[in-house]
Amino acid sequence: MEERYSCADCRTKSCHAGDGKYPAFCPGTDFPEEVMNEAMQEYDKPEIRQLAVAAAETEAENYCRMTRMEETVEFAKKIGAKRIGIATCVGLLTEAGTAAKIFRKHGFAVISIGCKCGEQKKADIGIPEFCHVTGVNMCNPIMQAKYLNKEKTDLNVLIGLCVGHDSLFYRYADAPVTTLVSKDRVLAHNTVAALYQADKYLHLL
Ligand code: SF4
Repeated sequence: MEERYSCADCRTKSCHAGDGKYPAFCPGTDFPEEVMNEAMQEYDKPEIRQLAVAAAETEAENYCRMTRMEETVEFAKKIGAKRIGIATCVGLLTEAGTAAKIFRKHGFAVISIGCKCGEQKKADIGIPEFCHVTGVNMCNPIMQAKYLNKEKTDLNVLIGLCVGHDSLFYRYADAPVTTLVSKDRVLAHNTVAALYQADKYLHLL
C-alpha cells in the first residue's frame, strides 16, 4: 500500500510553534478550503461554540495542574451540565462509584448504567460462541446510550468501555461524550504505556 505521511509522522509541530518549518507532507500547507470552511462554520452554532470554548478554558486554566477527573468536573461546570451520565464497564464499577461520588460532591446529579444491564445474550446478535469465554451476556453500549438519552443527561462520561463498544456508544449518544477511562486490561488502563514501550519491550513496531 502507498505510504502517505501526515501529521502523525511530523516532528516539527510548526502549526503549533508558528515557525514556518512545515514538513513537505504537511496537510496544512494545501488544506482543502471547503473542509476548513465547513469545520469553522460549525463553531457558529451556539451549543458547539460553548463546548469548544469550555474545552479551551478548561485546558488553559488547569494545564498540568489538574487530573483528567478534575478537568472533567470543570468542563461539566463550564457547559452548565446538571445531569451527568456515566456509561461504565461492569469491570470498573468501583472506579465508576468513585467518579459518581466526586461528581455528586460538586452538585451534579449522576445517572450511571453498566454495560451488561438487561442481560442480553451475545448469541442473540450473532456473536460467535468462543466469545463466551468472557461471559454469555453481551456488552450493550447502544442500550447504555439510549438509556442516558432517555434520562436526558447533559454530559456523558465513559469509564472503561471496551474498544469498539465505545465506538457504538459515541454513535448513539445524544449528549456530548467524554472519556474518563480508556480500557486496557494489561496496562491498568494506562493505554499510552504501550506506545512508550512499543519498540523496546513490546515489539509492536
Ligand atoms: S499540520 Fe503540518 S506542522 Fe502541524 S502537525 Fe501536521 S504536518 Fe506537522
